Amino acid sequence: MRQEVPLGQADADTPTPLPPERPDLPEVQPAAPVPPPAPAREAGEGVVEPDPEEVDEEEAQDEEAQEEEAPDAEALAEHALAAAAALRRPSYDEAKTRICEQELRDAAVEFSVVEPIGEDDPHCGAERGVRVSAIAGVRLEPAVTARCEVGLALAQWTREVVVPMALLYLDDEPTVIGTSGSYECRARRGGSNNVAFSQHAFANAIDIASIAFAKRPSMPVMPPSEKSDDTELFQAAIRGGGCAYFTTVLGPMTNAAHADHLHFDMAERRGGFRLCE
Ligand SMILES: [Zn+2]
Repeated sequence: MRQEVPLGQADADTPTPLPPERPDLPEVQPAAPVPPPAPAREAGEGVVEPDPEEVDEEEAQDEEAQEEEAPDAEALAEHALAAAAALRRPSYDEAKTRICEQELRDAAVEFSVVEPIGEDDPHCGAERGVRVSAIAGVRLEPAVTARCEVGLALAQWTREVVVPMALLYLDDEPTVIGTSGSYECRARRGGSNNVAFSQHAFANAIDIASIAFAKRPSMPVMPPSEKSDDTELFQAAIRGGGCAYFTTVLGPMTNAAHADHLHFDMAERRGGFRLCE
């Protein structure tokens, strides 16, 4: 606030008082040191996947760490992990989850309830999820463990895209959807120095590696060639169709890390933004 100047004195003879200096802005502290990524689970996806949705997302801001007074490095690392996990963890609503499970039952999806998922993993997992083994007569091999919303999206995609597109492009029936990943607790380095959690860490993602059919050989997911044959058109159709049900679709068109599978997840983004690649 500027100082009070008595009325009548603030005329041309009086030098205009300079505005007070702006108060110091709160010092922006550097992000907490980056802890090592959580130990890789198994061999599985040995390649570090720089999922673009993770790199693109706003960088983790460890607000809690800023309030701490000189915590030790281990505590800081723990804070950074917890903050990074909180940033990506989907919201959980038990009532919605129960409705979702009823929808799976109504759709004759073969599944069991898993509660919770990954209880031994401090930053990962989900409060409640499902293990889906078959949809509309199409088996999932191996069965996938994921949040119900993911299972329901997968069921809709299978019924409304995979089955009719196989008939349309290949005159065939899908029998098996080969999966190559669902729940996996893993933290990865995202953009700059921040740790990013994959949606797989929250049972909010699945990877599709192949589709097997009643008559023709199994189709592995692979990068498109110049041929644009029926199989490639089918793969393009089921990838694009996935965008109607999942908020993230990545595949061979995305990068080399996704050359052999389709990654589907239900990441929540501001404004309902979807990533369809
Ligand atoms: Zn994936």
